[in-house]
Amino acid sequence: MATDNHLMPTYGRLPVAFTHGKGAWLWDTSGRRYLDAMAGIAVNNLGHAHDAVVDAVCMQARRVMHVSNWYQIEAQAQLGERLCAVGGMERVFFGNSGAEANEAAIKLARLYGHKRGIDNPAIIVMEGSFHGRTLATLSATGNRKVQAGFEPLVTGFRRVPYNDLTAIRQVREHDQQVVAILVEPVLGEGGIQVPDRDYLTGIRQICDEAGWLMILDEIQTGMGRTGRWFAWQHENAQPDVMTVAKALGNGMPIGACLARGTAAEIFQPGNHGSTFGGNPLAATTALAVLGAIEREGLVKRAAILGETIRSGLAAALAGTAGIREIRGRGLMIGIELERPTQDIMTRALGKGLLLNATAERVVRLLPPLILSDDEAAQVINLTATTIIEHLQS
Ligand SMILES: *Cc1c(COP(=O)(O)O)cnc(C)c1O
Repeated sequence: MATDNHLMPTYGRLPVAFTHGKGAWLWDTSGRRYLDAMAGIAVNNLGHAHDAVVDAVCMQARRVMHVSNWYQIEAQAQLGERLCAVGGMERVFFGNSGAEANEAAIKLARLYGHKRGIDNPAIIVMEGSFHGRTLATLSATGNRKVQAGFEPLVTGFRRVPYNDLTAIRQVREHDQQVVAILVEPVLGEGGIQVPDRDYLTGIRQICDEAGWLMILDEIQTGMGRTGRWFAWQHENAQPDVMTVAKALGNGMPIGACLARGTAAEIFQPGNHGSTFGGNPLAATTALAVLGAIEREGLVKRAAILGETIRSGLAAALAGTAGIREIRGRGLMIGIELERPTQDIMTRALGKGLLLNATAERVVRLLPPLILSDDEAAQVINLTATTIIEHLQS
């Protein structure tokens, strides 16, 4: 096997390599099988090697993969139509990642501001948020670790605590430059923080009163993961702009910035672009992903599985000292411990389970939506034993 010596060491990788997968399972180079409860960080919602996705990739790769956005792309137009239908939006710009989708949203908000005569348009962003690793998106991110060393940061962001409507109203009182709010409906990297019931609707109301754009980063929460197509649909707090990526292509790199109303009319020819964005291969694959999620009823299934796993974990961990909280929405599940998670990913790996940890103390589960009842039971058992052993070590 090749060494990592020629890769920039940007990741702390675990000592395991996977050769193939099927459904919720991955196999390593020695033939050992692992239950995948992190789905490539909320990417593989349909699991690995899903037939509809594989067929779409192979069929399209044989026909044409890329042509450039100088030409009509039927699959991209169809995907735009389908995504808007499930997401309650009107127009889409396609890129290749989450960060790019957010870049598009940030540019759109600035252009919206300038069109309204605001010279230095600013966007309200949250503490604990994560929006990506490009300069603008890391500047929007509410985590110093992501920003440190990359100053000067992009200006034009105003930071407030998450889940705090009063803080947003205070900014509104003395800041005339604000044009938008960018927020995750559930904090993902920030530790699976679920805001209060009225938070998103409150943001919607403030944006309506102030003439601001409500921008939701649904990159981790979207595509059915929380038990709705998009997390805002739990509260019907419809945004003006919404970004999607991760599970949109189930592993095919693709991201999207969706908009409705005034926001949908901001970008004009020449304002934004991407060479690969929405190319025939990516768009056809994402269309297959949408189709499979719908055909297999996976949005409802995610809600049910989420309940099952959360209550199963609560039962399995009842009486265990050191558990602070078990929380989440659908299949976005966090178990907050009283002490750091440290090497819990390695411990889980030893048991044949792939999970993830974030925000220092939070064990994060993001299993695929295609999990069977039996697999969900295995996720509960393996996660609970991993956590109990970790807390006793
Ligand atoms: C993963 C993620 C991003 C960044 O997506 P990339 O594809 O890694 O650029 C942005 N926002 C949220 C909420 C994410 O979870």
